[in-house]
Amino acid sequence: MRVLNRWYGSVLLLAVGIGLTACQDRPQERELMVPDFDAQRAYRLLQKQVEFGPRVPGTPAHEQCLQFLEDSLKAFADVVKRQSFDYTIHKTGETVRLTNLISSFGTEPGPRILLAAHWDSRPWADQDPDTANHNKPIPGANDGASGVAVLLEIARVLKNHPPPVGVDIVFFDGEDLGSEGYPDTYAAGAQYFAKNKSVHYSPFLGILLDMIGDRDLQIYREVNSVRYAPAVVDLVWNYAARLGISSFYPESRHEVMDDHVPLLRVGIPCINIIDFDYPYWHTLQDTPDKCSAESLAEVGRVVLAVIYNPPAL
Ligand SMILES: [Zn+2]
Repeated sequence: MRVLNRWYGSVLLLAVGIGLTACQDRPQERELMVPDFDAQRAYRLLQKQVEFGPRVPGTPAHEQCLQFLEDSLKAFADVVKRQSFDYTIHKTGETVRLTNLISSFGTEPGPRILLAAHWDSRPWADQDPDTANHNKPIPGANDGASGVAVLLEIARVLKNHPPPVGVDIVFFDGEDLGSEGYPDTYAAGAQYFAKNKSVHYSPFLGILLDMIGDRDLQIYREVNSVRYAPAVVDLVWNYAARLGISSFYPESRHEVMDDHVPLLRVGIPCINIIDFDYPYWHTLQDTPDKCSAESLAEVGRVVLAVIYNPPAL
């Protein structure tokens, strides 16, 4: 972590020195290269996942969606692998098979960026205003499908425009099987990935996308990301400002236990781009009409800016 932070020292100072508003006047601030992001395709991919039904581990919808995601990645990536393992759910005692999907773009040695989202959906709508719904699975349009949709569209872009750095897109399973009050029962797939990763795998930057489809998109700097990967947060927010994307706010608001935390614990400087101000979180109302293609595109363009304009390495 420390070494990687030092890599970022110059980027951080540059970002602080330039500020976020005056950048267009500075000749040294080159224009960011951002390939086209197809917002409508991303939104259709969000709808497609929801149409399978809740992607709850152990159900046919989960298995069918996994096959769809694997086939979709295989059309664009150089390598796609399944990482499967058995997991016992804290809340129910049931053991289910979980599968992370790991895809790589560019296989030669060199610096790599990790992009991630969770593809499972929560079996329990335990925040639903109607308590009768608390044991029903959520549709997970925003919570789950939105991040995956953006990354599937980015996979298409990566195939058409080979990036200047290697990129790995990982879809984590079992993010949302956790019990209230037991933070370590969340992010099962990311925990397994972090525990089993090769010591040689050390992406210099990671971005997790979660709940980024909200029509009313408001992304604050997530507290664990600021605490453990501040240079990545600064880089991403600086790029968002330079692209004129107003849904990225400079303040912090929420501290979230999510798939980035196990990665941070093993030294991967991974931030969480998340809009946690979403009234339909863990309810049956988390449906595609609460999301928009424009929101997916705003986040997608910021991530593409990072990939195609990486900090000097
Ligand atoms: Zn969730």
